[in-house]
Amino acid sequence: MKSSYKTYGPIILQALSINAPKVVECLGSDGHKYKQLAKSGKDDLRQDAVVPFTPSTGVLEWVDGTLLLGEYLKGRQVKKKTFVILFLFDDRKKTSAKPSRQFVRTSGLNFGLPVMHYFFLERFLQPADWFEKRLAYTRSVAATSMLTESASSSYSFKRLLKLKTEALPIFNAGVMNSKGIWEEIRVKRDKVPCHKLIWFPLHILKFSIITWLAILDRLPTRERLIRMGITTVGSCVLCNDALESRNHLFADCAMAASLWKEILNLTHLAKYPMSWDNMLAWASTTWKGKSLLTSIMKIAWCAFIYIVWEERNKRLFQGRVRTVGDMLSSIKETVGTQPRNRDLNRLDNVNTFLCNKWGIG
Ligand SMILES: [Zn+2]
Repeated sequence: MKSSYKTYGPIILQALSINAPKVVECLGSDGHKYKQLAKSGKDDLRQDAVVPFTPSTGVLEWVDGTLLLGEYLKGRQVKKKTFVILFLFDDRKKTSAKPSRQFVRTSGLNFGLPVMHYFFLERFLQPADWFEKRLAYTRSVAATSMLTESASSSYSFKRLLKLKTEALPIFNAGVMNSKGIWEEIRVKRDKVPCHKLIWFPLHILKFSIITWLAILDRLPTRERLIRMGITTVGSCVLCNDALESRNHLFADCAMAASLWKEILNLTHLAKYPMSWDNMLAWASTTWKGKSLLTSIMKIAWCAFIYIVWEERNKRLFQGRVRTVGDMLSSIKETVGTQPRNRDLNRLDNVNTFLCNKWGIG
């Protein structure tokens, strides 16, 4: 038999959050008492299964045995982080991510050691029960946060919410944190093939940075400056023979090419002059593993890019000129010092040759 509401009793409990939903007792026509949670104010009623009275007020059935999180925490200590989370879960629309004074005053919470796990320890005395309930709690909190978005949600959280459909199966499979879910969802792109050309154990930071910028074509070459409307002068300061683009400066330029040829001679590699793209492709596919040759080639190539860029700037801004021989000595000096303290198999023919050529003592 269906019963209807007859009268409402007094407020039994007031919940912690600022909109202060109240638990009231209502007397049914069947003579039983039912507890209802009455919500009003700025609460968004759409997020709960509320029976609306007006657009902003309504009731939903109170499940017996329910304990409000805030009620449990009242008078106990919570971590500052938990406090902020409680605040964020609070329904009011906020402009700041910091708990307001009013919230601090009315919450009755103190900062201190976290207590939330005690809830499960106190109420579920068997370890298996305790574990199961705690897990269920974590999951429900995580699920709630997965499914609702508030103004205070972080950027990454909002992005994650957009991936809800993909995220839920992973979440249901037991991955709990957003980082784990993100790792599962994200499209794993292959690492840039030239990544290892630049970031290897013996790399020299300033060389790697300039080389990385060169690979991305982010160095302010004259060709780029013209494109940005910053300058109208475009000729290469090393050869005065062509437009100073990345591809020219580090591959096609006669001066740079002769320097690179000298470097290759020192490693006994005979290679025809190559375009920038071919050079990069060759390096990415050939310089692998941990051999001394590979290490030297990587350091030397990064040093080559750095020195060429440095030379270009010296000529442009300081009016100072070095010869190819000067630059080669400078590169040799750097490359020779880097592997010096490493355990090298010096009896290996190739290694002996390289050590002699590069002055690795
Ligand atoms: Zn040039």
